[in-house]
Amino acid sequence: MGSHSGARAESEERAVSGCLFCQIARGERTSHTIFDKDGVVAFLDIFPCTPGHTLVIPRQHYATLAEMPAEEVGKLFQVAAMVAAKVQSALGAAGFNLGINNGKAAGQEVFHVHVHIIPRYPDDGGGSMKSVAHFKGKETVEQIAAKLRPSFAPS
Ligand code: AMP
Ligand code: ZN
Repeated sequence: MGSHSGARAESEERAVSGCLFCQIARGERTSHTIFDKDGVVAFLDIFPCTPGHTLVIPRQHYATLAEMPAEEVGKLFQVAAMVAAKVQSALGAAGFNLGINNGKAAGQEVFHVHVHIIPRYPDDGGGSMKSVAHFKGKETVEQIAAKLRPSFAPS
């Protein structure tokens, strides 16, 4: 939690002092920031997969998506889509992948929510979202759907 105490301060600022991306959001660490408005910050990934690889973060600290209020998630993705379109156009990319590594199993290394925008170029050597994992189990799609539907049943 942040250095402030009390419910009011907490609702205004969620930050973790040792968090790399909180430090970037507060300007305490060098970054190549390209957008900073209304609580959302976009900066270039320091180890880019392709030219223009960008990270979009909420200024407030949330470790994973599950911690974020729905409106914040909405705002984050709205900005991410806008930034992605501008990055693609400015760099002459042919497309982009946009997504979150959410949780350790998904490859998350920095536990401050961030959306990756990876501009794509012809013959850049990358794959699609489908290349992140390979299902070798025996469950059918029908069986998996049956497991999931109760979670969405009206209460
Ligand atoms: P993830 O695996 O989704 O947690 O990705 C974390 C990303 O943060 C990686 O793509 C790193 O290259 C990137 N990264 C790590 N440190 C920095 C930094 N100081 N500035 C910008 N990007 C960083
Ligand atoms: Zn943080």
